[in-house]
Amino acid sequence: MISVQKRLTPILLLILAALITSGCEQQEEVIATRFLAFGTLIDLSIVGVSKEQAAAATAAIEKDFAQMHKAWHAWDPGPLGRVNRLIATGTSFVVPPSVLEMIRHSKQLAIESEHLFNPAIGHLIDAWGFHSDDPEGHKPPHPEIIDQLLRQKPRMTDLELDGINLRSSNPNLKLDFGAFGKGFGIDLAIDHLRQMGIENAILNAGGDLRAIGSPRNRPWRIAIRHPSGKGALASVEVSGDESIFTSGDYERKFTWKGKTYHHIIDPRTGYPARGTSSVTVIHPEAATADAAATALFVAGPDNWYNIARKMGVKYVLLVDKTGTIHMNPAMQTRLKLDEKKLKIQLSPVLAE
Ligand code: ADP
Ligand code: MG
Repeated sequence: MISVQKRLTPILLLILAALITSGCEQQEEVIATRFLAFGTLIDLSIVGVSKEQAAAATAAIEKDFAQMHKAWHAWDPGPLGRVNRLIATGTSFVVPPSVLEMIRHSKQLAIESEHLFNPAIGHLIDAWGFHSDDPEGHKPPHPEIIDQLLRQKPRMTDLELDGINLRSSNPNLKLDFGAFGKGFGIDLAIDHLRQMGIENAILNAGGDLRAIGSPRNRPWRIAIRHPSGKGALASVEVSGDESIFTSGDYERKFTWKGKTYHHIIDPRTGYPARGTSSVTVIHPEAATADAAATALFVAGPDNWYNIARKMGVKYVLLVDKTGTIHMNPAMQTRLKLDEKKLKIQLSPVLAE
């Protein structure tokens, strides 16, 4: 579902650096742990509780992620795999609880994004082969296959939910939550952490994260990834409850006959979206941030602003293929840009 990240995120180092330099005697320790889930490294940093409490919470969250991975796998025989098989039959069926809320939530976000975020294009994603952890060596699907898949027009609005019953008016729809599951899962895990009495934490899945609270009432300092996939482009301070998600063309890709194909597909063309290198979104909810980063990547430098407004997103940074940075003024105010001589294009104000 989500590839193994080769890079180590600089976020922990930044948090630690912020604490070390704060000069307080009774600093609260950041208790950091790392585990593998969704095929990605998950870093959980907890502040303000005992080591025992943090260890118990970490064990519970690790278990949550293992279960979510099983439940939301698009092609393994778990709950989502079953839903996908039943969708293809055109009959009405009862949706398992682990998938029901995901469908409801992602359908809403797909509509707001004008279907640029479209988790119904599972068959198209399969055709591109971006499911494997290492797609290198693949080749693009035949144009006729892409045409055929596009003609089927799968959309989340084909799914009719009646209570817990689901029916798809389009048997060619296949759900793929590769652009959403990580965010949705982080939100569930943060709810769980709070239930366990944890108020200050960062849950970071391969560079996409949600932070709650703050260490000793100081903000967390978070690095935003460079579109090259290496190092930080900027940093931003976060206190309270915010998620930061980045979608980039460096995540999963393959090269065929000298051309590179990445894993974020424009549902209108059936091909990897063009014009964007990376998009970073800040939003309270991780699920929305995840879906929006993908949607705005597809929308590209000319249309991201309209889609961000529709999705209710207030902070966006988009790096286009030429290296120009597009962002809204509120985002610029929050960012510490590491690089000089950047070409920056400011949008009008996004809805406050
Ligand atoms: P990341 O892999 O960094 O989390 P995204 O959140 O953008 O990146 O998710 C990309 C994944 O989402 C792809 O691997 C694929 O499974 C799926 N996907 C690709 N294009 C779309 C799209 N337009 N809408 C919804 N899901 C998509
Ligand atoms: Mg996403």
